[in-house]
Amino acid sequence: MASRVLVVGSGVIGLRTALEIAKRNIPVVLRSPVGPLDESNCSQGAGGLWMPYKCDDPRADKWAIETLDEIHPIAADANNSLGPDTEDMVSEDYHKGLGGKSSLPLWSQDPRFNFQNVALEQVAWQNQIHQLRLPNLSMAQAAGYNHAWFFQTPIVDCPKMLESLLNELVTGKSASNDVNIADVDVNVETGVYYQSKEELFEEAKKLDCDAIVNCTGLGASELCNDSQMIGARGALLLYDRKTCKRLDPTIDEIPGSSGAHNELHDACIFAVEPPWGDDEYPSYLIVRGDDIVVGGTCLDGDTEPTMRPKERTRLLENARLMGIDTNACQPKGDWVGFRPYRDNIRCEIDDMDDYANKDYDKIRLVHCYGTGGSGWTIYTGMAKEAAKLVLQ
Ligand SMILES: Cc1cc2nc3c(=O)[nH]c(=O)nc-3n(C[C@H](O)[C@H](O)[C@H](O)COP(=O)(O)OP(=O)(O)OC[C@H]3O[C@@H](n4cnc5c(N)ncnc54)[C@H](O)[C@@H]3O)c2cc1C
Repeated sequence: MASRVLVVGSGVIGLRTALEIAKRNIPVVLRSPVGPLDESNCSQGAGGLWMPYKCDDPRADKWAIETLDEIHPIAADANNSLGPDTEDMVSEDYHKGLGGKSSLPLWSQDPRFNFQNVALEQVAWQNQIHQLRLPNLSMAQAAGYNHAWFFQTPIVDCPKMLESLLNELVTGKSASNDVNIADVDVNVETGVYYQSKEELFEEAKKLDCDAIVNCTGLGASELCNDSQMIGARGALLLYDRKTCKRLDPTIDEIPGSSGAHNELHDACIFAVEPPWGDDEYPSYLIVRGDDIVVGGTCLDGDTEPTMRPKERTRLLENARLMGIDTNACQPKGDWVGFRPYRDNIRCEIDDMDDYANKDYDKIRLVHCYGTGGSGWTIYTGMAKEAAKLVLQ
């Protein structure tokens, strides 16, 4: 069992893993080149939606439910008195075809989602009750969709959650009255970049750590020479939730209904089936904290770090389609990030085959990266698994 652990990387995986280890009363040293809110951190720019996506590892189902167990009570608490900004929100995912039960994901059976796979007409009826900002029925039907997944899921305000995790780690005070780590020795520093695994081991020796957890996300492709890692590029527009003018969808299309509504509620919207979206160019709108995030792109191996003009035009069209009045309001920003994708997430103990220096055998190296488009969906479960591997 480790007595002091070096965690590398301060994205959501590194922060939550460091916290998990500290909660088990083990001293932790956290090192990364930049702080968690730096633009280069995939975690700070993400949509923050709980929904497995671009992640094919069978272990992810379990980790996702463990994460849900942690964030669902926070999201369901309307006043957010339990912790950082996390919101429970209805999500609508448009589909074509029959939409039979066999095509539904396993997680849809969890009662916390109130998951329904319904015909679009039924969604319109549902909307008489929920009064959500969704594209209107005739638009969706004209696009050829005939049913939708309708479910309620947590959205994490990623920057706020990262700040909260860091704060808990540094001060020892938990926003959710969880295990107190105030007495555990925790040391956090930025400005450190490791070029190789050998450098990691040397650092661990210097810091008197007998275990390392590598949470470097896409950085692991260079650090570990991991040719299985792929950056799946994503691009987003950001709108201000408070000031952004929204088009009122027609929710009173059902014959005989009064159509009377006072205030519409925000909802998240997805389409990964044409014409609104596809695998490489999904369309989505996620309402996250003070922002509205409009996407998207999912291009394996595309390394362009800035938004292309054509891409921006497409995202503006997505924004219009999903109910933003694009004539009246402009995006307040944009972001391009790279999902750290790997066929199988790397969450394992290094086999230590290729080190000449036998000193390194005394240090356990655990890898914990490759979460693809699901880091915010599986982070708690994965952190618990990494802690288990460190401590076993
Ligand atoms: C457009 C987009 C939208 C997304 N939306 C969602 C969503 O709605 N829901 C969801 O669940 N997921 C989403 N994701 C995926 C999610 O953001 C990632 O899976 C997750 O952030 C990965 O976290 P991480 O901590 O592994 O990586 P990162 O956040 O990138 O952190 C890696 C850390 O390692 C450090 N590092 C890297 N190399 C080195 C090195 N050599 N030495 C030292 N430190 C190093 C970095 O500086 C950083 O601190 C989205 C991703 C994108 C791109």
